[in-house]
Amino acid sequence: MSENDDLWREIPGTAYVSLARRGMEKLSLDQCFLNNCDNEDINLLEPFKKEEFEDEKKLTKLIHIKCHKCERTFILKLETLKAVAKSNDSDDQALTMGLIYALDEKGKNIGHIGFF
Ligand SMILES: [Zn+2]
Repeated sequence: MSENDDLWREIPGTAYVSLARRGMEKLSLDQCFLNNCDNEDINLLEPFKKEEFEDEKKLTKLIHIKCHKCERTFILKLETLKAVAKSNDSDDQALTMGLIYALDEKGKNIGHIGFF
């Protein structure tokens, strides 16, 4: 169990989804991202494996998660960019530090979830 807790710590609790002109919406990552599954119960999600890759531009983490509702596996892909470009129309620090994608168990991209 403690190993799983460590893996949860690698996963940001919240992602931010860009809504065009309406700003950002918060999205919980404690859910199953597979098609035809509506599991949002963290107790039915079991992260069991982590892979990490690094190159000069980004750090990539793959967290493999077993869903005990649909009994399938998906992967959260967290990409942390090392050089974040500042946006031109704002002096604020760029908010976009990381990108989150969902992959199915074969590594096929299901979709871009948001930012963290
Ligand atoms: Zn599921």
